[in-house]
Amino acid sequence: MGRTASDGVDLARLVALPVDALNGVGPKKSKALAKAEIFSCLDLLTHYPRRYLDRTKEARIVELVAGDEASVLVTVNNTSSRRVRGGKVMVSSTVSDGSGSLKLTFFNQRWRERQLTPGRQAVVFGKVDFFRGQRQMTNPVVDLVGDKTGRIIPVYPQSDKSGLHSWDIAEWVAEILRRTVTGQAARGLVDPLPEYLLDEHDFVTRDAAFCGIHQPESMAEVMIARKRLVFDELFRLQLALVLRKRAIERTETGVAHVTDGPLLTGFTGRLPFELTRAQRRTIDEILADLAKPIPMHRLLQGDVGAGKTLVAVAAMLAAVDGGHQGALMAPTEVLAEQHFAGIRRLLDGLTVEDRTSLLAERPLRVELLSNRVTASERKRILGQLITGEVDLAVGTHALIQEHVMFSSLGVVVIDEQHRFGVEQRAALRDRSYEEATPDVLVMTATPIPRTAAMTVYGDLDVSVLDELPPGRTPITTRWVAVPGNLDQAPEALDAAADLEAMWAEIRGQINEGRQAYVVCPLIDESEKLEVASAETTFERLRQVELDGLQLGLLHGRLTPAEKDQTMDLFRSGHLDVLVATTVIEVGVDIANATVMVILDAGRFGIAQLHQLRGRVGRGAHVSTCWLVGEATTEDAEARLQALVESTDGFALAEIDLDLRGEGTILGERQKGRNDLKLASLRRDRKVVEQARRAAIDVVDADPGLESHPQLAAELQLFLDEADAEFLLKG
Ligand code: ADP
Ligand code: MG
Repeated sequence: MGRTASDGVDLARLVALPVDALNGVGPKKSKALAKAEIFSCLDLLTHYPRRYLDRTKEARIVELVAGDEASVLVTVNNTSSRRVRGGKVMVSSTVSDGSGSLKLTFFNQRWRERQLTPGRQAVVFGKVDFFRGQRQMTNPVVDLVGDKTGRIIPVYPQSDKSGLHSWDIAEWVAEILRRTVTGQAARGLVDPLPEYLLDEHDFVTRDAAFCGIHQPESMAEVMIARKRLVFDELFRLQLALVLRKRAIERTETGVAHVTDGPLLTGFTGRLPFELTRAQRRTIDEILADLAKPIPMHRLLQGDVGAGKTLVAVAAMLAAVDGGHQGALMAPTEVLAEQHFAGIRRLLDGLTVEDRTSLLAERPLRVELLSNRVTASERKRILGQLITGEVDLAVGTHALIQEHVMFSSLGVVVIDEQHRFGVEQRAALRDRSYEEATPDVLVMTATPIPRTAAMTVYGDLDVSVLDELPPGRTPITTRWVAVPGNLDQAPEALDAAADLEAMWAEIRGQINEGRQAYVVCPLIDESEKLEVASAETTFERLRQVELDGLQLGLLHGRLTPAEKDQTMDLFRSGHLDVLVATTVIEVGVDIANATVMVILDAGRFGIAQLHQLRGRVGRGAHVSTCWLVGEATTEDAEARLQALVESTDGFALAEIDLDLRGEGTILGERQKGRNDLKLASLRRDRKVVEQARRAAIDVVDADPGLESHPQLAAELQLFLDEADAEFLLKG
């Protein structure tokens, strides 16, 4: 082992080798493998064990004590099935390990009878109890392992239904390893990692890594192998992202903006408050990007209320200072209008040089393009975007539609928009008479952990607003563990008292002139059911808990005009309480609202609860958020507890990642072979950073990967064709 010679076998070769090229794989097994999405020898080699049985630490049946969770290697003695009450099928199996015997009981798993035939070896894992003096386990996890003499037995994900067994996989993998690494004539696997990275991180070779993960002599060997393979996965991902980022920078020309012009300095100079340190840092990062002739593509992460709008406005003003225009895109009409009003207020009184009349000045022009502006207004604004008389435009996605043209669009800010890809960039480029690609700032109030951002948004630069402006009173969050369905009376007296205190607080706040939100139970199955449930909640509150107050209802099935009307009534104080579905999740900004009640809160995710809670605590008044609902799972309890304990979106995002894993975060952007099989954004945070640094070093020293042909070739396997073409043409 230890060969890294270029005459070795590379991954492309393993991809080209179908599984039925292996001795033990016939048509039937090949079909079963296909079902598990295993087609090539590389798929098999990267089908990693899901756990290991360390026979040096194996328990013996005779030592098992009731209540233990244990894993034992056993041989099946006999298995039988019978029907029990309620028509269920019960399969019982007696197994032994030489020290004693154990009874296994399975309910409604009739196929166990066929699986656990006498003489079979299996690892069973479960909780031990005693029944009539006999040790037994009910519904244990069973892994068939076959005849095994090794000290560490890998247990592969397997499927009894399609006849794919752990020992089959171990055998096939052994055959691949024999042919490539361990056998007499084996040439070894190509190792594409630069020598210096192997040294720097103390990695084993790829040969050693694949042997170590599949055929370890000790658990320590597994860990060492895993370390290398995890790095490989994350490094490939980062290489692709960094290559993409650099390719965009290379192929697009941007505007080199003026970053110390009179508008921008005038604006920051006359703010009624000091910028936070985080705002100053972020604005500096953005201005440094804007000054370069490379188009910016930056993500601004900032918790609700961190002051992202100011940062966005600063960026857009830099564009105007140089004679260009800025645009801000919001996800909904309501939010566009809110931004428009806020930005107008911020910029009131600022003037720009009027290039049509020499030396004269005119007021800075901000316009709103929404459904609510009249047709003639719209026509006027569109015309003035073309002439450059309008400096800043605020609107929805309609802003980048075909018929909209800007004289010279310099900076685009996109609020709360997660999907902004290559297509949208192209659309943007076409919006302007100038050749240059506008600089883009994407803002999100849903923080994700740093390492996750590096992975999901690794082709963007990331700025973080991790500081709230001073003087905010933190929101107090309370969890009332009663049914979120108000019709069910709470059983515990103190819970009932908490609920009463909650409704009383709402009335108290409303008496003092404040307002409140009540968020209705989340119903995943259909919007129709959700609306029905919201209507029921609304009626119920109006008649019972909030009788006598002015209530409004907001849900997804209302027309835009109806939504607007309700929002206007709430904003102007004509409604005391807004009963709503999660349509109010994003951006709604009403400083006078100080109480948020979330019904059936256990069903919401952490990020969603945090967003909803962010609708209060936006003014000078003390605010409270009430989470109502029982935690039906351990995770739900952890989520609610996290919300009670923290208002820091980044801390919550870390907890969320711990609870949910990375699947949900990666899901949106990563497809195909990029799937992380071993690496976990959660467990391998440090490796994500190492891989990113390594990828940047490699790409910046050699943008076409010309001195790393093996790395480039391997990357091709994991990218789709168009991407490979774009990224690797150098
Ligand atoms: P975000 O969009 O990040 O949720 P906003 O930009 O809407 O936050 O800002 C929230 C509120 O904080 C606004 O009323 C804004 O005027 C105010 N604000 C922003 N920056 C500061 C600051 N440095 N000091 C005091 N108040 C600020
Ligand atoms: Mg905002």
